[in-house]
Amino acid sequence: MPRRSIALDETARLLFERGMEKPVSPFPDRLTDGYRAFLDDRFDREKDRYEQLAETGQTPKIMLIGCCDSRVSPEVIFDARPGEMFVVRNVANLVPPFSPDDGLHGTSAALEYAVQALRVEHIVVLGHGRCGGIRAFADDAQGPLSSGDFIGKWITLIGPAAERTGGRGRHEGLDGYVERLAFSSIQQSLANLRTFPCVQILEGKGRLHLHGAYFAVATGVLMLLDPLTGQFVPAIGEMPRKAMPIRCDEPAAS
Ligand SMILES: [Zn+2]
Repeated sequence: MPRRSIALDETARLLFERGMEKPVSPFPDRLTDGYRAFLDDRFDREKDRYEQLAETGQTPKIMLIGCCDSRVSPEVIFDARPGEMFVVRNVANLVPPFSPDDGLHGTSAALEYAVQALRVEHIVVLGHGRCGGIRAFADDAQGPLSSGDFIGKWITLIGPAAERTGGRGRHEGLDGYVERLAFSSIQQSLANLRTFPCVQILEGKGRLHLHGAYFAVATGVLMLLDPLTGQFVPAIGEMPRKAMPIRCDEPAAS
């Protein structure tokens, strides 16, 4: 038996030597290097905060529902510190409607914990440009990735949002429609959030606030949903020099 002190790559080598057909893969260097950098920098700077959070538990005021897409990490976009945001990510940042059945509802479970246990004050649905999940729904040509078609079933949640858009225009490009659909889907997810009784009640009492946001990957522009007009408007008046504040869409794919 390998001793606990033996590094995992050494363990993998020993197991391989002992005739394992499938040697244990080493942990990716990228992650080990990243972890070292984290320890040297952020953890070192925020050690007290981590210790305090371990002692007292988390008390985030914001829940964020975002997409799995590796380009749109909420903690990066909002420069969040540990303990500040309770984040759930799924394909296309969708919120299913309240469905108290025997299904396994991961996003609803996270929502329940955030609202009932953590008592968050804000819930943000964060959509983004070039979303593969939204595109998969919009593009009829795309078939299922596997026999399980988990994505295909999951993105049926986008159906009501697509109805809201009136469908793709006869002369509308796919990119343009995907963007319109992404905006509409954020609004649908907010509507679905309001089907949860606890959300409805707390929002009615002014103790919970819902927000829609959209991050354009190529430009860094963040748009917020104006609840009065139903339009998405820039989050901040003046963008930093290199960002482009003009439109929320992005250049066509090359
Ligand atoms: Zn996405």
